[in-house]
Amino acid sequence: MENIELKRFWEKVKEELIGGLPESVHPWIYSLEVSGYDKGVLTVVTGQAIAKTWLSKNHAAQINKILETVTGEQGARLNIILDEHYAFKLKKEVEKIHKKEAEMFQKEQALENLSCMQSASNLNLKYKFENFVVGKCNKFAHDAALAVAKNPAEKYNPLFIYGTSGLGKTHLMQAIGHYILFNNSKLKVKYTKTDDYINDYISFSRKTNNTIENMSKFYKKYNNIDVILLDDIQFIESKIKSMERLQHTFDTLYNKGKQIVITSDRLPKEIPNLTKALCSRFEMGLMVELTPPEAETRIGILKNLAIANSTEYEDEALSYIAKHFSDNVRELEGAFTKVCAYAELSGQKLTLELTKEVLKCQEQENTIGYTAIADVTASYFGVDAKDLKSSSRSQKISEARQIAAFLCRELMGSSFNNIAEFFNKKYTTIMYAHEKIKKDINTNSDYSNAIREIKQALKVI
Ligand code: ADP
Ligand code: MG
Repeated sequence: MENIELKRFWEKVKEELIGGLPESVHPWIYSLEVSGYDKGVLTVVTGQAIAKTWLSKNHAAQINKILETVTGEQGARLNIILDEHYAFKLKKEVEKIHKKEAEMFQKEQALENLSCMQSASNLNLKYKFENFVVGKCNKFAHDAALAVAKNPAEKYNPLFIYGTSGLGKTHLMQAIGHYILFNNSKLKVKYTKTDDYINDYISFSRKTNNTIENMSKFYKKYNNIDVILLDDIQFIESKIKSMERLQHTFDTLYNKGKQIVITSDRLPKEIPNLTKALCSRFEMGLMVELTPPEAETRIGILKNLAIANSTEYEDEALSYIAKHFSDNVRELEGAFTKVCAYAELSGQKLTLELTKEVLKCQEQENTIGYTAIADVTASYFGVDAKDLKSSSRSQKISEARQIAAFLCRELMGSSFNNIAEFFNKKYTTIMYAHEKIKKDINTNSDYSNAIREIKQALKVI
């Protein structure tokens, strides 16, 4: 009999055997493999001694009868051979299956543990390195965060990430947490907002009258971790008792060789009334700044969002959003979400036309322009307009630059980031200049006169 024919024949016999024999022996039938058929004798192999013994002893008559019917040959019979080699092969295969099952189980268990840990750590699943778009504005901060994630407490400790609101501090900090949990599930990670830390401290000490034994619950919560992610540390400003407590937490963790990551919207020395002790601790590791994303990164972020949302878009629509929302990624995302919702609800593609209609951004092309503002302001102060873009810090040039930047913001509604690019300055410099002039015009008549006259020269009043 040809091999295929033999197999088919065996399948048929097997079917009849399964139908005709009690269920208790089915596993042994399944353990048989056909080897040959010759003159009414069907030879099968098994690796299980018990299969051979049991089937031959207790069911031979039934089996042979079934064989006679299927083959039509009088005296047909089943010849069961026990093959040690086959038994060994079978055993190995079974072991392999068990090992695979155990691995799968372990993997599932690990994933389950991971998601438990991620939620116990207060982490948001959206904030991972994979979803973080890297550009010039955040490359250094990103690389430092990744280095910390790969080698907690070995590289930069503490890691202090700072930058104004909406630039990705929380995202980057939580990405460190996810990375560590995924790659080293033995480490205990805790993300906490500084506000929550302060509130916890206050409520624990109130409840317990600050007694040492009872405060141990608080210590357990914050001292018993391997990686602490403390978000928005600026909220600790002026809270002296909380600062003292935080200093203890910091020292305990640091001395035990644990990783500390902190974010802030400003540098440690700019946090009002931050104790010297904490300030120097925050500064002793690595401090990295996040700045507003440049156009390419903004487009990258929008494209990622569009892909994640399966949104069909026109490139010009994304460029339009990126152009008008350049200071803050949260606002950039908000603008995208709004346009996207309109597109979805009205069943349209995300086009430039729709984007303009929804966002109605002030178009800078129709207004005065940075150059005109810089020229007029420079001439009012008797300095060269080129100097406003230079690094000169002479008082006259600084004043002229601050007023010009202030007017760019006020008259054109531009982002700090765009103004900063025009004047070749850091965006925080422009932001602080704007804050300062806005405050000073109420008290400094030189400034208010200058602004009025420059506006007149620009013919905007
Ligand atoms: P911050 O903590 O600095 O105020 P967040 O981390 O909350 O800012 O970021 C605000 C929003 O912008 C979040 O939704 C975050 O995912 C997103 N975001 C910020 N930077 C990036 C980036 N480089 N790539 C992708 N998303 C970003
Ligand atoms: Mg944040």
